[in-house]
Amino acid sequence: MSNAILVVGGGLTGLTAAIEAAELGHEVYLVEKNPWLGGRVAQLTKYFPKLCPPSCGLEIQFQRIKKNPLIKCFTMTELVGLKGKKGGYTAKIRLNPRHTPPFNVDFSLLASSLEGEAPSEFELGMTKRKALYKAMPFAFPARWVLDPSALSKSDAARVAGAKFLNINEKAKEIELDVASIIVATGWRPYDMANLPNLGGGKWKNCISNMQMERLASPFGPTGGVIKRPSDGQRPLSVAFAQCAGSRDQNHLNYCSYICCMATFKQCLYLVEQNPQVRITVYYIDLRAPGRYINTLEKVQKLPNVRFVKGKVAEILPGRGDNLRVVAENAITGEKQTLEYELCVLATGMQPSLAAESLPLPMPLDMDGFVAGGEEAGIFAAGCARMPLDVSRSAQAGTAAALKASQIAKGR
Ligand code: SF4
Repeated sequence: MSNAILVVGGGLTGLTAAIEAAELGHEVYLVEKNPWLGGRVAQLTKYFPKLCPPSCGLEIQFQRIKKNPLIKCFTMTELVGLKGKKGGYTAKIRLNPRHTPPFNVDFSLLASSLEGEAPSEFELGMTKRKALYKAMPFAFPARWVLDPSALSKSDAARVAGAKFLNINEKAKEIELDVASIIVATGWRPYDMANLPNLGGGKWKNCISNMQMERLASPFGPTGGVIKRPSDGQRPLSVAFAQCAGSRDQNHLNYCSYICCMATFKQCLYLVEQNPQVRITVYYIDLRAPGRYINTLEKVQKLPNVRFVKGKVAEILPGRGDNLRVVAENAITGEKQTLEYELCVLATGMQPSLAAESLPLPMPLDMDGFVAGGEEAGIFAAGCARMPLDVSRSAQAGTAAALKASQIAKGR
């Protein structure tokens, strides 16, 4: 019997679970579908509770993984099959081709000479990436990826003769014997296309809160300067629409937990960059659990930020590239239409499993969160289970590692 543990998902929860399980003496297979590890945290500018950049927390975890020979990471990999039972599973995984070697080669010169481009997944479509790319400067593993579907005809000829690239590489499937499984598949931002009254993602200057994280990041598409997408100008007036898709039975019928805090943090980004900026936050409730109340109080004291209790009903085109926000003030009953240079939708947190399926004997609830599986030795952690912030997700990863270890040790 194997004492190995399979971890599905290489975000902060999965990384934490993998490290904790390995430090308990288990062989660990960490499977991640993206080319990089770090998940959503890697896309943030700063994260709570200390408002650190993602590199500080992730870099520590990456170092622990590098130093631990019990952990084997598979990026661009999916779980495609499972046989067996609790304590003795055989998991089939598919390794999708990266077309680059398993060691670090710097392809930057070749990449910059290619014509083919595709929307950058890491930058949430806010910029384009080349057909040969690395997700970000501190990507781990620090390996490039070749996306043959984005190559132009002339690129294809150039790449075919390039040393260390293998355009003909095919997907491979392998089987792993594991005793138990941790599911840390995380979340995705609720798709703005589902919110036509808020522009449905069509207005250039109406972005999601995760796109705002990329705009404010020093490694993002604007080098960290928050500029509005239509004309590259720094916005002087910004509206935040809270609960965009959350707490709504037609969309996500729950509170997404993190999006109030994300907005408070993003108000701080905006004011730090431009003390003249004017911000309106349209909200139903302001949620700042535990000690996070300090951040809310700090933002409430800023003269730049005005809070309006009332849900945004519509976002419409305004003068030039501006947008008009229609909302009813729930305190005064007044219907307001105000114009802003940039709108940010505090889009909610949808579990990744709402849109993807895993071949695991594990029930999901109606929203796509994992709602069981422990009896089969399968433990969901982090945002696969419920909306959580970063530190609680990491704690959930540790807890899942302990539970998975008990199965793997036959207890
Ligand atoms: Fe709405 Fe705030 Fe809950 Fe997000 S955290 S769903 S913005 S109340």
